[in-house]
Amino acid sequence: MSARKPATIAVRTGIESDTQYHAVVPPIYLSTNYGFPAFGEVPNYDYTRSGNPNRGLLEQALFELESGKGAVVTNCGTSALNLWVSAFLGPDDLIVAPHDCYGGTYRLFNTRARKGDFKVQFVDQTDEQALNAALAKKPKLILLETPSNPLVRVVDINAICTKAKEVGALVAVDNTFLTPVYQKPLELGADFVIHSTTKYINGHSDVIGGVVITKTEEHAEELAWWGNCIGATGTPFDSYMTLRGIRTLGARMRVHEESSQQILNFLVEEPLVSKVYHPSLLSHPGHEIAKKQQSGFGSMLSFEFAGSFEQLKFFVGKLELFSLAESLGGVESLICHPASMTHRAMGEEALAEAGVTQHLLRLSVGLEDSQDLIEDLQQAFAQAKEAF
Ligand SMILES: *Cc1c(COP(=O)(O)O)cnc(C)c1O
Repeated sequence: MSARKPATIAVRTGIESDTQYHAVVPPIYLSTNYGFPAFGEVPNYDYTRSGNPNRGLLEQALFELESGKGAVVTNCGTSALNLWVSAFLGPDDLIVAPHDCYGGTYRLFNTRARKGDFKVQFVDQTDEQALNAALAKKPKLILLETPSNPLVRVVDINAICTKAKEVGALVAVDNTFLTPVYQKPLELGADFVIHSTTKYINGHSDVIGGVVITKTEEHAEELAWWGNCIGATGTPFDSYMTLRGIRTLGARMRVHEESSQQILNFLVEEPLVSKVYHPSLLSHPGHEIAKKQQSGFGSMLSFEFAGSFEQLKFFVGKLELFSLAESLGGVESLICHPASMTHRAMGEEALAEAGVTQHLLRLSVGLEDSQDLIEDLQQAFAQAKEAF
């Protein structure tokens, strides 16, 4: 029998695993501790910080979906990134990260580097010369985020992993935007995959969570040890909810993408939009790489508003089906102004360097009817034109 497909793994993990009452859906275990069967006999689970059945099932689903060997589910995506650097970096070690990575990732690495915990260099990873110069410093870790947030820049995972191996660096890919449904970094040469499961993986904007997935069992054991040591692990309830969210991951990702394609077709024709960022567009510099390494283009997109800043604020205020909010990947559509919201911690200089302007807006296209979404954008653009 061939390996199970992602949709099957997502739906079936843990189903019919209850031996006590034969519950079809795995029950939730909220107990913080578990009895030892006899003196000196250590049970599978003893204390929930180090392990729990619900977290265990979620970890299994996630590493099987990513074709990995193990995983540690954490209490948020940020703590997954923090766990990863805590486990592998010392004061003299360098990590190379994208200059336009998620704002919280930038803040975490920057702050810890300033305290002397490790060294960090933020690089435009689409700039081969800059990347080669950073690799020449022999980093211990490299973080990729592709497509990146918010400009959906794409880098060649396999090419960078090959170069990383030559200098002995381990590579993690933040796969939050595509999920294993559209991109499998471990199969492209990465050593780790990191997710904010808060986003598409849970998909319902009601759980904060994260995960580090490993290519080897050794790394999984090391990370599990560190996860318990620093107390980064996820709760049973969040794990239960996230596994429930994963059941529909494949179906959700398909509809998110279909709708975003229709919205893209609309946005590229809209006069109040000067530029649209999405890897499916032929004009996108990473289009060919995306076609090669992704099995779908994903649904996160950004665009430059062509009017004044006052007009932009007015436009956002007129939208009825896109909530002005941070986060992404839920069933509900969102609009975000990265410079004043998700990425404000970066500061003006770093924002400019990353190409995040005051006129950039990011859409997380939800699962509402796509025609309703387009009509909502249409009416808000029309009102913005009329009022100015
Ligand atoms: C949200 C996000 C994170 C951080 O995850 P939290 O769950 O909010 O801590 C990291 N990377 C990316 C790409 C994200 O979108």
